Amino acid sequence: MTEQYDVVVAGAGTAGAYASYLLAKAGLKVALLESKSGDQIGVKTCGDGLGLHHVERMSKYLTPNPKVFQNKIEGVELISPDQKTTLIVRGEGYVLDRFAWGKWLVEEAVRAGAVLYEGHTATAPIVENGSVVGVKAVERISGVAKEFRARVVIDSTGSAAVLRSKLIGWLVSEPLHPEDVSHAYREIIYSEEPLENPQYIKIYLDMVVAPGGYWWIFPRNATMLNVGLGIWGILKQNPRINYEKFILPKFKVRGKYHIGGGFIPTRRPLKSLVGNGIVALGDAAAAVNPIHGGGIGQALLTAELSSKVITKAFEKGDFSEKTLWEYNVLYMREWGYRQAQLDVLRLMLQTLDNDDLNFGLSRKILTEDEIYHLAAKGTNLSLLDKFKVMMQFLGRPALLRKLSTSIQYAKEIGDLYLAYPEDRAGLERWHAEVVKKYNEFREKIGLGPLPTA
Ligand SMILES: Cc1cc2nc3c(=O)[nH]c(=O)nc-3n(C[C@H](O)[C@H](O)[C@H](O)COP(=O)(O)OP(=O)(O)OC[C@H]3O[C@@H](n4cnc5c(N)ncnc54)[C@H](O)[C@@H]3O)c2cc1C
Repeated sequence: MTEQYDVVVAGAGTAGAYASYLLAKAGLKVALLESKSGDQIGVKTCGDGLGLHHVERMSKYLTPNPKVFQNKIEGVELISPDQKTTLIVRGEGYVLDRFAWGKWLVEEAVRAGAVLYEGHTATAPIVENGSVVGVKAVERISGVAKEFRARVVIDSTGSAAVLRSKLIGWLVSEPLHPEDVSHAYREIIYSEEPLENPQYIKIYLDMVVAPGGYWWIFPRNATMLNVGLGIWGILKQNPRINYEKFILPKFKVRGKYHIGGGFIPTRRPLKSLVGNGIVALGDAAAAVNPIHGGGIGQALLTAELSSKVITKAFEKGDFSEKTLWEYNVLYMREWGYRQAQLDVLRLMLQTLDNDDLNFGLSRKILTEDEIYHLAAKGTNLSLLDKFKVMMQFLGRPALLRKLSTSIQYAKEIGDLYLAYPEDRAGLERWHAEVVKKYNEFREKIGLGPLPTA
């Protein structure tokens, strides 16, 4: 059985549902394939935190349903491993009713005219004459195989990136190395004891509990808490074990609303997010913030940027990599360069131990404002001068040198991503420079060369 559309979107998470909404609104015939069906649509294992700026940006295109915002957040409490220091980082956002959010976005896509195929699992891209021209799928319950043909295919299947990863030999199929992912586990629990300051999400840095990551409490209200952790993928540890050993015993649990785990790409941008007839969005495009693993906002952003380029491609009647490349350029200039900067800092943070973190937080090597700028917006260069001064009188010259080196390289690598090539011709030369710079940096902070997956 073959269906014909303008665009086939595989995966109805935040990225796929929002892209389907935008493209259907632009008048294109869109098929949205989703493995889940019925009540499961919209269900996603997540920390459910979303910065206000992402919501504001989305509101230009789609008015959010207020029911999806469960708790208005005023900022973050960042807590040191010894729990002696708490930094209050201000920054507004929400803890979402994530399932309501997911369902709402899919409903909006359908209302805009996209056709939802629930219970349909995309299995492979259809490639003809060097272009993706559709998707093979299986209807889960009946087992019936189908083909969905289209001028453009969107891979928004989440971190598994089911379609782009099958395009072996294509630029867009770049695999994820275990060093570049986080393994996360979280439970939404009902606690007997109300949490203090539920208007603040809590982030606990602790390299024993969450090596190479952090553990969190994101309150949906004072007693309904999203509690979880992320661990650096290269360590190959099951995060649920540490959750049950170290985190769960801290709570008097009255019940559990949902439990689950997943993996999150936490890395620099992919070399390319496009190929002939295909683009990747959200987690499938590894678009996540590498420092804190938040990717809902980037799922929205990639949907927005790619749908602009796809709409233009329809105006031109050309769906080649050359035309779709503009999405790469928009992405790198808007977010990719900051993602690369944050990836440099992420690698540095993963080399620290609890002692370094206790010291750094207690001495306020970075103030709350600086942390907000670093984590949410990218690096702030004035920090370099500050580190130079501090190195002279604080007792940890090696740590401060590592921090200032990282900020310096974050700036240089970010600048390289800002100079991402306008077309594929310049890509290999550009990428060789990126690898060279990363390797210089990695050597300075005691990591080996960039791994190849
Ligand atoms: C434990 C955890 C905590 C997190 N906490 C936060 C947080 O607090 N804030 C934040 O911003 N981000 C957080 N993230 C990351 C965030 O959830 C993702 O970045 C975001 O959901 C990515 O959206 P997406 O649409 O790209 O992918 P997804 O939301 O994963 O959607 C992919 C969709 O594709 C469907 N699918 C998969 N394979 C197929 C297939 N073969 N065929 C058809 N459909 C398919 C899936 O069922 C799913 O609906 C967290 C992630 C985890 C795992």
